[in-house]
Amino acid sequence: MERTTGPEPTQAFLAAMAAQMATVAQELSRWAGAAPRTLAEVERRALVAAQELGNALLGGVCGMLAAPLVEPERPCACGQMARYLRRRPATVRTVLGPIAIERAYYYCARCRRGHAPLDEQLGYCAGSTSAGLDEVLALLGATADSFAEAVTLLEALTLVRVCPNLARAATERLGQALQAAEQQTVAAAWARGTVPPTADTPTRLYLSLDGVLVHTEGGWREYKLGTAYTTVARPAHQRPGEVEIHAQALSFVGDVADAATFGQLLWCEAARRGALTAQEVVVVADGAHWIWNLVDEHFPDATQIVDWYHASHYVWNAAHAIYGDGTPLASRWAKRRLDDLWDGKVDSVLRALATHRQRGAAVEEAISYYTNHRQRMRYAEYRARGLQIGSGSIESGCKQVITARLKQAGMIWALDGARAVAAVRTRLKSGRWPEAIALRPPRRRAYQRKVA
Ligand SMILES: [Zn+2]
Repeated sequence: MERTTGPEPTQAFLAAMAAQMATVAQELSRWAGAAPRTLAEVERRALVAAQELGNALLGGVCGMLAAPLVEPERPCACGQMARYLRRRPATVRTVLGPIAIERAYYYCARCRRGHAPLDEQLGYCAGSTSAGLDEVLALLGATADSFAEAVTLLEALTLVRVCPNLARAATERLGQALQAAEQQTVAAAWARGTVPPTADTPTRLYLSLDGVLVHTEGGWREYKLGTAYTTVARPAHQRPGEVEIHAQALSFVGDVADAATFGQLLWCEAARRGALTAQEVVVVADGAHWIWNLVDEHFPDATQIVDWYHASHYVWNAAHAIYGDGTPLASRWAKRRLDDLWDGKVDSVLRALATHRQRGAAVEEAISYYTNHRQRMRYAEYRARGLQIGSGSIESGCKQVITARLKQAGMIWALDGARAVAAVRTRLKSGRWPEAIALRPPRRRAYQRKVA
């Protein structure tokens, strides 16, 4: 049987809406004329009226869709026919407040399952939240400082009041869907050895990665975050004639995972961003061993660069150990070494350090750092090629993606909750929100009834 909205329900709906609109306008004008009102008062009152009208519109349209005559029975998934029982109301919370839909309800005596075909068509689950409200809750839950703040924002914006747990549930549900989709993508890409790249393959693709600690119920856990980006050269503000290299089009992936699992995730993201076809892949990162082991494994042809600021930090530590904290001598010595480092003369820095070996741990650490990463510190060459030599992109990425939401004062996360919220934030901060929302599985509910 065709599902149609015949003329009668439509006419009834139009008439009801026109009458309600007239009542609302009359009430508002009477109230406004009864005493001197401020714009804020009128604004608030109009917003409430608009919400009521919106709620009636939404409920009315759903009622219209539920109105057509019903079939006496319909096929059940078990192979039997499910019999029409009656119209059963379903409530759904939406961004326009709760609505109730009186829809046809069927029951299969064989498998004891209830069916509400309209629920599937509209893609909602009775007693739950609409896809629209879910999206707003997930967005606010992932971006506000807390789930409590998320629902405060929701109420200020939409007048819809829900409890913080609903924001948590919506955010985590989206995060889990993203994680599941990501796992599938990684497994499939790994099996094929390739990932369909996004439209614009860059000539030069940058990758960077780092870890940030998150406080979970099981203790502090390292969240590994990776970013892929391109760069653009712009005239330097402070130094006329010079250019500054800026990161752009950053996308992020991450998880609380071991380096091997994270490596596959990063490889997939890099491939998606065109790493397999780009002329050059450049990795900029700090000196952590897991990072460079992972880079050697997955991006063996990449240009490897140890972050300039981490590298210079070791010179300063050694200088302070040799000549005393903050002394002019320390400063002068450090600046000379940094000039050498800047010019790519790592051997000369190592020779200078070697003469101060007796000064202890800071000097030894610097020697081992420069020895291990010598090939990743060819700064003069990198600068000549116009490469970015700082890992600021991943450091600010860690702050924006993780710290800003997951490291608020006093926060201790359930590990799964932290991973889910972080999954939502990585997509959001990658400019992939519509894609993330499209990955949500449909809300389904199996109606199981006790009584036939
Ligand atoms: Zn059945």
